[in-house]
Amino acid sequence: MPQTPGIVQGGIFCYTSANPALRNAAVSVNDSLQKAADLLRRARYAVALTGAGISTPSGIPDFRTPRSGLWETVDSMEIASLAGFRRRPEAFFAWVRPLTRQILEAQPNPAHLALARMEELGFIKALITQNIDILHSRAGSKVIYEVHGHLREATCVECFQTYPTDVFLLHFIQTGELPRCPDCGGLLKPNVILFGEALPVKILHAAQRAARTCDLMLVAGSSLEVAPASELPRIALAYGAQVIVINFERTYVDDQAAVVIRDDVATVLPHLVGLLESGPR
Ligand SMILES: [Zn+2]
Repeated sequence: MPQTPGIVQGGIFCYTSANPALRNAAVSVNDSLQKAADLLRRARYAVALTGAGISTPSGIPDFRTPRSGLWETVDSMEIASLAGFRRRPEAFFAWVRPLTRQILEAQPNPAHLALARMEELGFIKALITQNIDILHSRAGSKVIYEVHGHLREATCVECFQTYPTDVFLLHFIQTGELPRCPDCGGLLKPNVILFGEALPVKILHAAQRAARTCDLMLVAGSSLEVAPASELPRIALAYGAQVIVINFERTYVDDQAAVVIRDDVATVLPHLVGLLESGPR
């Protein structure tokens, strides 16, 4: 874990933010972190919900928002749709090639590692993510619901056989040749959810069940703008859970959340783990 910026007040290490707007609010951010740690200690079943913001410190652009630069071509929404994939797979693969290279070269950042450590210590029981980049599993998280699919596997569009993507994707990035099924020669479609494609029902149901069952939901690095994952904190609140939000931007649940920290997840989450490790279990 990298050193967290901080100050010592009354012999207690206090968090100070890298965000200039929050730097003068060190004590209140520190109070928020203490409260978040207390809630996690007391929780019976806490789950985390993450979005693109957890992976931007790893250099991965936000896959589904117009700000990412991925949507500059006029018909990128069409290219990244299931219908577009079927109609013009070469356009889809040409479009997705730079993103795939970025994802394969990315490493889990301190926020991913902190969430994996929280699970290892027993403070969170499951992690729901909108990300397809598999950085949570590479960081060591075990119980993960990837509601938008993932790049770990690809499925043949002809015979529906599933393959691990690593070899296929490396070959595709190096050569630009479309990945094909070794059995039947059909195209291999990465198991990520495209526009116009249904979310994986079992995974989504498991995530919704976790939202109903949990007594604490930690939202980290998601602005909660992409449904249906964005609905999960609303479900958790409706079933009586408390919510912690750690995100740069405001979210729709901030007003109902027990703790809100508008700062960098890659700084805040390791600090939270530090508090959990140093306090009572
Ligand atoms: Zn096949």
